Amino acid sequence: MIQRVRGFRDILPPDINRWQYVENTARNILENYGFREVRLPILERTELFLRSIGETTDIVEKEMYSFIDKDKSPVTLRPEATAGVVRAFIQHGLYNQIWAKKLYTIGPMFRRERPQRGRYRQFWQINAEIIGYGGPLADAEIISALDMILKALKIKGYEIQLNSLGCKGCRPYFKEALMDYLSNKVEGLCPDCRRRQKLNPLRVFDCKVEGCRKIILDAPRIIDYLCPDCQRHFIEVQDYLRQMGIEFKMNPYLVRGLDYYTRTTFEVIAPGIGAQNAIAGGGRYDELIKELGGRPTPAIGFAIGIDRLLSLLPDIEENRRPLLFLALLDDEGVKIGLNWARKLRQKGIWVEMGYNRSSLKSQMNKANKLNARFVLIIGEEERKKGRAILRNMDTKVQVDVPISPDEGIPSFLSQIKNKEETWSS
Ligand code: AMP
Repeated sequence: MIQRVRGFRDILPPDINRWQYVENTARNILENYGFREVRLPILERTELFLRSIGETTDIVEKEMYSFIDKDKSPVTLRPEATAGVVRAFIQHGLYNQIWAKKLYTIGPMFRRERPQRGRYRQFWQINAEIIGYGGPLADAEIISALDMILKALKIKGYEIQLNSLGCKGCRPYFKEALMDYLSNKVEGLCPDCRRRQKLNPLRVFDCKVEGCRKIILDAPRIIDYLCPDCQRHFIEVQDYLRQMGIEFKMNPYLVRGLDYYTRTTFEVIAPGIGAQNAIAGGGRYDELIKELGGRPTPAIGFAIGIDRLLSLLPDIEENRRPLLFLALLDDEGVKIGLNWARKLRQKGIWVEMGYNRSSLKSQMNKANKLNARFVLIIGEEERKKGRAILRNMDTKVQVDVPISPDEGIPSFLSQIKNKEETWSS
């Protein structure tokens, strides 16, 4: 038997209820904040990710699903969404489009990490970006939207961690200080960090190896190197968050796993879901649009990991049920039933029927399994007398109802919906 690929998941009912619930909740909140949805390709040119995420990051060095397409162009399954959003933003010249100031997208990402609880090779994210605003209010709004989604989903005990990574003016000073510090600690670093400490020393903050983590605890902290503008920006972001009653905690070691971040960065950590406890993350990327060939345009965004978020949500009971099941017992009954089913579905009613013309007993069985609320039995004898049997599956009460095959929507059926709660005899 062919099995699915390791690290990939099948999402099936009833679990799908929770996925839809999370997506719908996020969608409603984001739309209230004025975000518009975009749906972008899953496959992009590899270069896009090399140039945005950064060549010395884990994602680019180890985790991308990349291949050479038949026309010899290197392409990659997107490992994150922001690069694609920025690519589309530049490609369509959306600088002055009012709807393009706030964008969101929901969909799968691909990273070839070692699969474990909360870590998959295809995982799902809700991404939101505010583009074209460099001031701290945009930061406050994006974090506020993220916080509102988590609150609406009743996620308990999460912590928003906050840091600033400075700008291209002040970061080089910090980088230099960090390189200095690390150059005396090379012995204690893992092979990856040894290699990266000269190229991209900030990545050492992101390393999960115990030895590297210890070394980082005494390292210089970027917030001590912020220029006055970055400092002011960061303080204002915090003030706005406090004004909105949004709790957060400073984490001077938070750098995030992608190179494009500037200034405000944040991550949301949740308890009780194991080692992979980051449920969302994000930050400013004021240089990225320019670096990818666009006009200088500041921006900030977040990504919520749906897979991990779901492990914090209780099961959602299956409460979908068909309103009506048509038990069709002969050719004439099928003809009537098919027409009525269409009409009722057009009216927004969930109608099911027996497809395999089996006995009444097995059709009733199927109606039961589907948890249908009413069954209309159109049997030959009754039909000839212009009647059918309508059974309320909850109360088990059956009534004999008049039917006429030529009727548009049968009068008694159109009443079912209105009287759904009270109908019994
Ligand atoms: P990142 O941009 O790496 O911080 O990813 C943002 C969010 O996506 C994380 O906080 C996780 O919730 C989620 N995420 C990232 N990688 C994975 C993965 N391999 N499996 C499941 N969720 C992931």
